[in-house]
Amino acid sequence: MGIRVLLVEDETEIGDFVVRGLREEGFTVEWAADGDTGWHHLRTGAWDVVLLDWWLPGPDGLTLLRRLRQAGTATPVLMLTARDAVSDRVRGLDAGADDYLCKPFAFEELLARVRALARRPTGAADPILAHAGVRIDLATHRAERAGHRLDLTAKEEALLVFFLRHPNEVLGRTRIYEGVWDERYDGLSNTLEVHVMELRKKLETRGPRLIHTVRGRGYVFGEDPG
Ligand code: CA
Repeated sequence: MGIRVLLVEDETEIGDFVVRGLREEGFTVEWAADGDTGWHHLRTGAWDVVLLDWWLPGPDGLTLLRRLRQAGTATPVLMLTARDAVSDRVRGLDAGADDYLCKPFAFEELLARVRALARRPTGAADPILAHAGVRIDLATHRAERAGHRLDLTAKEEALLVFFLRHPNEVLGRTRIYEGVWDERYDGLSNTLEVHVMELRKKLETRGPRLIHTVRGRGYVFGEDPG
């Protein structure tokens, strides 16, 4: 897989131009056109570089950036914005942006910045999620419990990643389903239950239950069923 770039940008013209250009250069690009969709992708995907527009419908770029940093994610973020006032630039950088590009920009310039950010070692930002003795390395896809490797399917892995991102939180079926399968939940399909059952089986070969059913509400991942 190539370098994975997430673009959060509501202007169609810029989005088309950036997505097409980066794909031609061999990047894997996902495009979200508003803040809520952008946040969904930020939470559920593993990105090498994020291109974040400042003004967006829904939560704006600065809000997404703050949330991302508060969640402890150090993925390099390049802010895209028409703003070029020094104070705005400082606000963006203070909130945890790695770089800044003012619109309008030339594709060459964007490409140079993206390449530089993708090469930058993210240091403490190793792509490891861990909770309650379960860990997963998003770069190598290695999942472990108590030091033992778990052999997961792609969907089981995606489900585990979702749980690890929301430990000790009651997660409704719709939220999990839409986060992991990225499609609307019809409330009828038992796909989610089947995958939870399989994932439980694999996790429970190495310790007590971690995915607890909360009757009528969904699931909670953690040592204490709450
Ligand atoms: Ca915008």
